[in-house]
Amino acid sequence: SRALRNRSVPSFSTLVARFMSTLVLAEHEGGLVKPSSLSAVEAAGFVNKEKSITVLLAGSGPSLQEAVSHAASCHPLISQVLVAEADILKHPLAETWAKLIQLVQQKDGYSYIMASSSSFGKKYTSKSCGSFGCSPVTDVVEISEPRLFVRPIYAGNALSTVRYTGPDPCMMTIRSTSFPISSFSKDTNSDAVPISQVDLSTFNEETFGKSRWLNLTSQDSERPDLGNARVVVTGGRALKSADNFKLLEKLAEKLGAAVGATRAAVDAGFVPNELQVGQTGKIVAPDLYMAFGVSGAIQHLAGMRDSKVIVAVNKDPDAPIFQVADYGLVADLFDVIPEMLEKLPEK
Ligand code: FAD
Repeated sequence: SRALRNRSVPSFSTLVARFMSTLVLAEHEGGLVKPSSLSAVEAAGFVNKEKSITVLLAGSGPSLQEAVSHAASCHPLISQVLVAEADILKHPLAETWAKLIQLVQQKDGYSYIMASSSSFGKKYTSKSCGSFGCSPVTDVVEISEPRLFVRPIYAGNALSTVRYTGPDPCMMTIRSTSFPISSFSKDTNSDAVPISQVDLSTFNEETFGKSRWLNLTSQDSERPDLGNARVVVTGGRALKSADNFKLLEKLAEKLGAAVGATRAAVDAGFVPNELQVGQTGKIVAPDLYMAFGVSGAIQHLAGMRDSKVIVAVNKDPDAPIFQVADYGLVADLFDVIPEMLEKLPEK
């Protein structure tokens, strides 16, 4: 009986906390946890009233260490940071991450595993769900109860409420635009939370399937990231050429904005695919969204209709974009943009 008394038996509250525990799969860049992952932490606060939220960061080198320090002190809902440090985790590959998530889940048995609906989050949650035998709930925009979620369907034209009744873990991706980071979460001076290392001794390269990391191609730009920018200026097919898009880039520079594009503009080769906003592109919800020569097809609206203020410039007074615009100007964009460039002060 003494042996029993000495054994550390978890208290009821510890058991409840463990039962309700939530893992957030976090992305990091330049030594900081990405804002979209902090939005996933905000969302985790809705399912996890015990505030027992663990953030998992993986990678290697100094930028991982900086991101770990950031994660440990940047958000009051984070109760622990788990770190998986290995060269093989330096680049985000779905197979490697799925193995990592499996390893962490086997040890800690989380009730919820959450990520933002970025290409990162979508890749890993769907791959991991395969190994757990559960279905992911994707693109969550509202958490009504811990297992009752609202998500858009039909390119954002309807909202569907779904109840998750599958086994643990309940895996989901959330739309970061629907879970803004609360201002207090930016206070980096709060007390740091515990940091633990994931035991990767059983992790070897043979377990990682067939994909290999080759390289990353990205455009260096001073402009803000499209997904997080407060102002977005978007051009459509009406811009007519890659050269004319430079007009929009100049405007973006003056406004400190990110540049977006419609699929028609991307397909015509005016700008790279990563600038596409819409159902099959990025989902944005900036404070100000300015659309130049954009018709307002439903697939485009699916990616920007939650913007706070929408401004549309279009030659056609019947263009559907005017139905969602707060301010509309029936005019030729080739008159409007040069005039704006002339009248706006230098940054
Ligand atoms: P258009 O529809 O050709 O509109 C051009 C507009 O510019 C017109 O309204 C015209 O009046 C105006 N205009 C012309 N000249 C001027 C001028 N000089 N000054 C001012 N206005 C002018 N689209 C997306 O954007 N994002 C997506 O993610 C996406 N996903 C899709 C997924 C699927 C499965 C499908 C089928 C389609 C998808 N599309 C998407 C395509 C979408 O249906 C539209 O074809 C596209 O958004 C149209 O782009 P646009 O508005 O640039 O071109």
